[in-house]
Amino acid sequence: MSNIRLTCRQATKLLLSRQDRHLPWRERVRLRLHLIVCKACPRVARQLDLMRSAMGKWARYAEDAGEGDRT
Ligand SMILES: [Zn+2]
Repeated sequence: MSNIRLTCRQATKLLLSRQDRHLPWRERVRLRLHLIVCKACPRVARQLDLMRSAMGKWARYAEDAGEGDRT
């Protein structure tokens, strides 16, 4: 348990990979701990969440539009 602290760089990497895959609990705990003690990374996390939901909406819209166009 000596290496539980993440650097901001590692935390950002985890935040990014969290978008496409489920993190193991150990990584989630480390990330959560880092987000508690760090001032910058929670902002990054929030921006990534916003971006992801915006992209999700856009992707769905683009798919629908594309399918409608085909016929
Ligand atoms: Zn950080």
